[in-house]
Amino acid sequence: MSDTVRVRFAPSPTGFLHVGGARSALFNWLFAKRMGGKFLLRIEDTDQTRYNEAALHDLIRDLKWLGLTWDEGPEVGGPHEPYYQSQRLPMYKKASEELLAKGAAYRCFCTSERLDALRKRQEENKLPPGYDRHCRDLTTEESDARAAAGEAHVVRLKSPMSGKTVFTDMVRGEIEYQNHVLDDLVLLKTDGFPTYHLANVVDDHDMRITHVLRGDEWIPSTPRHVLLYQAFGWTPPAFCHLPVILAPGGGKLSKRKGAVSVGEYREKGYLPHALFNFLALLGWSPGDEREKMSLEDLIESFSLERVMPKAAAFDETKLEWLNGQYLIGSAPEEIESEVRRFLVDRGFGEELSENPATLEKHIRLLKDRSRRLDELVDTGLYFWRDPETYEEKAVAKHWKPETAARMRSLVLRLTEQADWSHTALEALYRDETEKQGVKFAELIHPTRLAVSGLSFGPGLFELLEALGSDCVLRRLAIALEKLSA
Ligand code: GLU
Repeated sequence: MSDTVRVRFAPSPTGFLHVGGARSALFNWLFAKRMGGKFLLRIEDTDQTRYNEAALHDLIRDLKWLGLTWDEGPEVGGPHEPYYQSQRLPMYKKASEELLAKGAAYRCFCTSERLDALRKRQEENKLPPGYDRHCRDLTTEESDARAAAGEAHVVRLKSPMSGKTVFTDMVRGEIEYQNHVLDDLVLLKTDGFPTYHLANVVDDHDMRITHVLRGDEWIPSTPRHVLLYQAFGWTPPAFCHLPVILAPGGGKLSKRKGAVSVGEYREKGYLPHALFNFLALLGWSPGDEREKMSLEDLIESFSLERVMPKAAAFDETKLEWLNGQYLIGSAPEEIESEVRRFLVDRGFGEELSENPATLEKHIRLLKDRSRRLDELVDTGLYFWRDPETYEEKAVAKHWKPETAARMRSLVLRLTEQADWSHTALEALYRDETEKQGVKFAELIHPTRLAVSGLSFGPGLFELLEALGSDCVLRRLAIALEKLSA
């Protein structure tokens, strides 16, 4: 085996990219970067009944969105092509033939009726389920003859019936299974397709995978894989099983308890880097108090020794906080493409192309006040259109009968105003409050309401500067008409 670390993410494209899957991909990616190794993407699509073309497309999109690009795999190719298991069937067939020839595997001709009856009998007698090894001792002649005659069969691993299989998990230490509980695993199905176990082991070997990092739901499969490696005479990779991710209140992360896919978090307004950072801390920690960590810091600090076996809770409040921190720390241009997506979605595609410069202003003024992109967009729609409504409570509070006259005199001065910088505007307002003998707030709140329809938002003078004089004067005129009526 070469020294270079080679790891892989090996999803089965049967549905969306679950945050648990994304976390596995991310740990593999970080480990590869940390070690100067390679990260592979392999598509485990041999279960044709569950294959879903749209899921594959979404999976690739979501991995890229998170920044989890791969060194070898679909689209980029590599020395172990193809990276789709459905295109590697001859390899699995050859591998199973190798095991048959060695006597490490056997053909099983049991019909599904027989297997059903066996299962029923085991249930009735409260016996552990599992194949009874009925075909294990067929002679080679009989097995060959029946296969040659076209009799349907699967290929099973001839697992040892006593003793134990032990492997070291990098997170949990030594894990031991009694061999008699591991029944004779199906390797090749009746349709000639491999099972997950065979294809996974053959490919990890062929692709020179050095470390298998995957969710801990795969622990029970690992002793079977170890037996398979032994049957082939191959050295198994190192195994590292990542802790389960639980919903905040405990229990499995499920749709009922909130979003579970990367796509949903994107739609909810999270930034890829924030989700990336958050997922990195699910089951791993840098060993100190740091939470917001740049990509470089994460790569620099990542180590498998600090992956913890304890279940990790998916705390969306923390994700929101982290996302807010990322918004504060981002320059407008860094998040423009994400914000654009939301605006187009809200129907402002045309306005966006007509006023491209507005986007930077919208982001700059609201990013530090928002925790998510949807909030950033929805609390700033006045950058794109005149207010359609005015907050009722704010109207009652700030637009008094005497307000119209005050605003009219203010508008007269604003119309004359050439310097539209926020400092000049603020000076004008201060001066005007003195002249009118009113409080600053008595001009500020009605102005905010008139230009945005809202009672809250960014600093008013920055907002007026960003909207520009034409827009502000137009909106003040509309408000004077509507609110004074
Ligand atoms: N195809 C399996 C999955 O969908 C891969 C598990 C593994 O990494 O071995 O998760």
